[in-house]
Amino acid sequence: SPTIGVLSLQGDVREHVHALEAVGARAVGVRRASELEAVDALVIPGGESTTIDKLLRAFDLFDPVQLRLRQGMPAYGSCAGMILLADRVIGAIEGQRTLGGVDITVRRNAFGRQVDSFETDLTIDGVDDSAHTPLHAVFIRAPWVEEVGPAAAVLGRVDGGPSAGRIVAVRQGPLLVTSFHPEVTGDTRVHRLFVQIVRDSL
Ligand code: GLN
Repeated sequence: SPTIGVLSLQGDVREHVHALEAVGARAVGVRRASELEAVDALVIPGGESTTIDKLLRAFDLFDPVQLRLRQGMPAYGSCAGMILLADRVIGAIEGQRTLGGVDITVRRNAFGRQVDSFETDLTIDGVDDSAHTPLHAVFIRAPWVEEVGPAAAVLGRVDGGPSAGRIVAVRQGPLLVTSFHPEVTGDTRVHRLFVQIVRDSL
């Protein structure tokens, strides 16, 4: 089974490790370049994208992770991780950078402030049976995807309510990003999809 690193600088690392192990992957924390070299793929957790950006640079990981991404390493980013894998960000704080890789523009904190965090059911392309058994999705100060370039494919949108139609899941080759946090719900289907993407890339 593939070895999947979880970037362990800030955010909900442990939840991703558990979800990956539940679907049969080997999950290891990554906080240094030598650990990055040992993994087949990387998960960038939810948390705070500006903090993770700063810590990537403080731990001398920004350039090595970006290089691996450019070499085709599969990666999955949830929420803050989606922002870090996006090529463009609206609402970035001054000096905030992203690793990039996915040809999308995301809007930070698009759905509102912490109190406006919400949950909804989604159908996501590639997520096993989600047309029939929707994925329960948790959004916490989440970004949405405002613009999708030709290389990226939309996998899912919010179904109803005030944010209906907003794009919240995208795939570009071996890169997967979601606005929401499947790692906190116990539904492991998004992680299963990612592990399948990793297996197909090996
Ligand atoms: N608002 C956070 C950011 O901009 C993301 C929130 C999250 O990951 N739950 O990085």
